[in-house]
Amino acid sequence: MIQTQLYIDGQWQSPIDQGTRAILSPADESVIAQAAEATRADARLAIAAARKAFDGPWRQTTIRDRAKLLNKIAELIDRDAEKLAHLESLNTGKTLTESRTDMGDIAATFRYFAGLVASESGAVNEAPHHVISRTLREPVGVCGLITPWNYPLLQAAWKIAPALGAGNTVVIKPSNLTPLTTHHFTQLVAELDLPPGVFNLVTGGAEVGAELAESLDVDLVSFTGGAYAGESIMKAATGNFKRIGLELGGKNPNIVFADADLDAAVDYALNAAFFHAGQVCSAGSRLMIEDSIYDAFISRLAERLPRIVIGNGFHGETQMGPVQSAQQHEKILGMVQAGIAEGARLVHGGKRPAGDVYKQGYWLEPTLLADVTAEMKIAKEEIFGPVITAERFRSEEEALRTANDTPYGLAGAVWTRDLDKANRMSRGLRFGTVWVNDYHPYFPEAPWGGYKASGIGRELARIGLDEYTELKHSYINLAPKAMGWFGA
Ligand code: NAD
Repeated sequence: MIQTQLYIDGQWQSPIDQGTRAILSPADESVIAQAAEATRADARLAIAAARKAFDGPWRQTTIRDRAKLLNKIAELIDRDAEKLAHLESLNTGKTLTESRTDMGDIAATFRYFAGLVASESGAVNEAPHHVISRTLREPVGVCGLITPWNYPLLQAAWKIAPALGAGNTVVIKPSNLTPLTTHHFTQLVAELDLPPGVFNLVTGGAEVGAELAESLDVDLVSFTGGAYAGESIMKAATGNFKRIGLELGGKNPNIVFADADLDAAVDYALNAAFFHAGQVCSAGSRLMIEDSIYDAFISRLAERLPRIVIGNGFHGETQMGPVQSAQQHEKILGMVQAGIAEGARLVHGGKRPAGDVYKQGYWLEPTLLADVTAEMKIAKEEIFGPVITAERFRSEEEALRTANDTPYGLAGAVWTRDLDKANRMSRGLRFGTVWVNDYHPYFPEAPWGGYKASGIGRELARIGLDEYTELKHSYINLAPKAMGWFGA
């Protein structure tokens, strides 16, 4: 049985009150680990350690040291990639292929930020000859990093790499449903010769996250998760006006025009919605189809859905695993029922698959609800499960207006062969990422984040590093003279 501990001030330790939490397999509800469950008191120790480390010699590290550190972490991720991928699949239920892809992306993220950090240099500003004026980037300080359960280590990497790369110290709190890969990652960091307190792991629930958000000794909180917790973090952060980054949920339109390559559009509609059983913040669960092809498109999807292989993520033939928790399972089923009650037509799914292997665990069939209209709750709220809701539109103007009529603004896609239309839609959609004739690709070089209620700030790309820095104007007068402004 895996047992995890906290990592505070360079020491592995149990929570002060010895709390533990059973970690369950989403595939069969068996106990796969006993994880340390911290409280606010543990979080305070971790914050104090990070504060001390930041105010100590860590401030003197050079960009070379830090770029080297990130590259070293990438090497360790590569070394343990298979172990990490197994842990991720065990804990989240996602297929091993997906977890392996995540580990590759995680190593790439560390390498990308290593390269960026190594190329950092301040700017020298134009100024009188007796003045040296420089614009410098400095670390923000102690960073509290709070991550969700759907991409546990990937979301952590998007935060840890730029935070450490920029010279900050870190307290990370993964979701208490999925702490296993972040715990293993911490074991990798513990192999390195970092000063105590630079990197701290505190596994626990909302109260630990709230402590990070409220603490006056934390300078920045970066959070990925739901809007409800995001709102509470934003309010808590006002205590010391700490910097915040929020990556929240989405209601992401996947818009198919009649002139699209329909073979590709059908195929990607499945990938957009059912990848990781739909538990992706950018999942294209809100399918919008042009009226003239609506019925044919629904028929083609209906024919594909029963062929999706649902199963244990460790089995090679599996295409879709379970959802992550009992709570999610119940919530998704409830939303499907609410949709049907509002008039949506259930084309496929909407229940636990038949068969003994699906009796234990959080299994759901891939689900298609047709005849959905924009007013329905299922077209407005994030479902976060393997459910496509299919709406009909009659014009480009209607598609754009309806797609934008959501408080969220994370990601969306447009399918068309018409370049003008593709351009107009890309510009018109109020979302942080807009794909055309594709769905889901992201990479470290491009920014990730949401408009409106999908968040504040961006991760990845140069801006993903800049968010972990303060800008300083350094002005040195080499020849000071009395000004005489107030007389002699
Ligand atoms: P969640 O909001 O329940 O929890 C996220 C993290 O916040 C967990 O570590 C949790 O313990 C902690 N937390 C919960 N309440 C808190 C509070 N009041 N103060 C501080 N911390 C608190 O989210 P989840 O259910 O783990 O994840 C699913 C959500 O995450 C979805 O809405 C999804 O869209 C979103 N998400 C967004 C992105 C993105 O990049 N925009 C990526 C992945 C997931």
